[in-house]
Amino acid sequence: MINIAIDGPAGAGKSSIAKAAAKKLGYIYVDTGALYRAIALNAVRKKIQNDEAQIIKMLKDTDIKISFDKNGSQMVMLNGENVSDLIRTPEISMAASCVSKIPQVREFLLELQRNLAENNNVIMDGRDIGSVVLPNADVKIFLTASPECRAERRYKEFAAKGDKISFEEVLSDVNKRDYQDMHREIAPLKPAVGSVIADTTSKSLEESAEMIVKIIKEKING
Ligand code: C5P
Repeated sequence: MINIAIDGPAGAGKSSIAKAAAKKLGYIYVDTGALYRAIALNAVRKKIQNDEAQIIKMLKDTDIKISFDKNGSQMVMLNGENVSDLIRTPEISMAASCVSKIPQVREFLLELQRNLAENNNVIMDGRDIGSVVLPNADVKIFLTASPECRAERRYKEFAAKGDKISFEEVLSDVNKRDYQDMHREIAPLKPAVGSVIADTTSKSLEESAEMIVKIIKEKING
């Protein structure tokens, strides 16, 4: 199976770019952030998002599955409920960054991610895919863009959904989350050894996807 790891900070366009590239290549696209978000949602619902011990306990009764609809879009199931839309809020973004610092949470999600990669040609995106989840990935890409550009993209996504949040708030959230993700003790966000750094600042989605497909083809075909 061919495994492509794409890591990078919030809003680098990983999901839309990886999804478009996966479509061009006929691979499945796995968004691992959604898994951390589903755990965060479960914790927020139980009002235990700030209680590490309770979150670890909660994992025993947490069942997370990924499935794909007929268009190939990923759905995340939390204890049988499709939570794919509910996890896309600023509150859950921040809570996901908090729960993802807990080693037991990361361990809990590891097997699910590796199983998907073992059985499918995948483009998997996250923060530690090239370094921890798939250290033997055929291609590792670290996707980035300037903080302002990333915040702008997130802001547009929220605005399109009608969410009332200012650009300044989104930028501050992006910066805070990056800092948290880069400075945590376990699996911090950083380019994995052997990764190609791809900067998408001022590139359109189509241009970025083309760039990624080119990197993948060059690496795979030698
Ligand atoms: O990619 P997304 O913004 O949906 O990820 C939400 C949060 O989940 C990130 O801020 C990060 O803390 C965490 N995450 C992670 N490892 C991954 C994917 C996401 O720690 N592989």
